[in-house]
Amino acid sequence: MNIKYFLPDWEDRLDPKFNFKTDCFSPEHKKNPTANDVHAHDLLTPPPYDGVLFSLANFIKKSSSLDLKNPKIRGYTDIKKYLKLNGTLQVMGDCGAFSYINEDIPPEPFFSIENVANFYNKLNFDYGVSVDHIVTDAIQKIVNGEKVKIILSKKDKEKRIKITLNNAKKFLKYHRKQKFDFKPIGVAQGLNPKSYKKSVEKLIDYGYEYIALGGLVQKETSEILAILDEIQSKTKNVDIHLFGISRPEAMREFKEFGVTSFDSASYFRKAFLESNKNYFTKSGKWYSAIRVPYSDNKILNENAKKCGYSQNDLEKMEKIAMKSLIKYDQGKLPLEETLNSLINYDKILLRRQEKIETIQERYRATLEDKPWKKCDCDICGQLGIHVIIFRGTNRNKRRGFHNVWTFNRYFNGFHEKE
Ligand SMILES: [Zn+2]
Repeated sequence: MNIKYFLPDWEDRLDPKFNFKTDCFSPEHKKNPTANDVHAHDLLTPPPYDGVLFSLANFIKKSSSLDLKNPKIRGYTDIKKYLKLNGTLQVMGDCGAFSYINEDIPPEPFFSIENVANFYNKLNFDYGVSVDHIVTDAIQKIVNGEKVKIILSKKDKEKRIKITLNNAKKFLKYHRKQKFDFKPIGVAQGLNPKSYKKSVEKLIDYGYEYIALGGLVQKETSEILAILDEIQSKTKNVDIHLFGISRPEAMREFKEFGVTSFDSASYFRKAFLESNKNYFTKSGKWYSAIRVPYSDNKILNENAKKCGYSQNDLEKMEKIAMKSLIKYDQGKLPLEETLNSLINYDKILLRRQEKIETIQERYRATLEDKPWKKCDCDICGQLGIHVIIFRGTNRNKRRGFHNVWTFNRYFNGFHEKE
């Protein structure tokens, strides 16, 4: 069995009928995006993950008035219906502790253990993570209207470990008293391998059968392995989840140390947040996506004016760049001419000369290798070259889903699925 992979969802829905030729949304999307848009598990068969991680912090972001007794998300009272989950896909809930990392304690009433457990139960989650508080080196506070960085002492950090453990204890007690169906997961925070072990021992004492290790995101893979090595003797009969990390180089060792699940959005997000590592391939190589921003982009328009170009000029350059890429994909335009059209439009972004040369080399590598033609995921099959164009949510997030698919198929399974 592979390690279960949960993809964190932050409402990453897409228009299934987006028209890539005309760059237009479908009438169905325009009418009701929540009902008609789809997730990665609808666009790729089989779905590229075992479940979805959904943070309750989403509710705070989306709702101006929260009904704590009758939770709903965008009108849905069942998280599986909201996420349109089908078949065997599961849903894990957590608090999204990064949202309150700067607070002294998880803010109540929303993040009280009773409220969080009731939310998991009422919304039909499969797994519910206890209310944790991340151990971090520094936090930010607003002092006299200004952001101030505050370094946390060892004592402050230990306090956070204690809050996390106390909450886990109360959370499990409440879960048992209420006879909830979702499987409870206790969070272990720590300062070093030994203190993680202490947390894990306590959670097992409380009665947890599933433990999530938090605070790993910033850690080197070797540090994570040292923690797993330290807790190994205690966790033989316990499931282990790793929060927020994906390390392809260590998946085999994670499995040997008894890790049963993890979550990460990093392969998804790199598609549109990284400057050049945007498209992931089964050989492990990354390619740069090719930027063709919409010509109504504000910065682009301001730059165009500075360079003496009109809105009309800009639209023409955009059209030529897009057409060149399509023609190149069809084998009707040579590489150099395609690159020239792209750089001609790209120069409006007022990059420095050496930057333009770097971009040109990255685009050349992408276009020469045509990696989208070698991928057998449904998204690349349907979109062709559009998957590698850095332009709007519908292309950028589909490229992210392709990355997730490639990661899970070729790296989480250690090539076993090949
Ligand atoms: Zn693909």
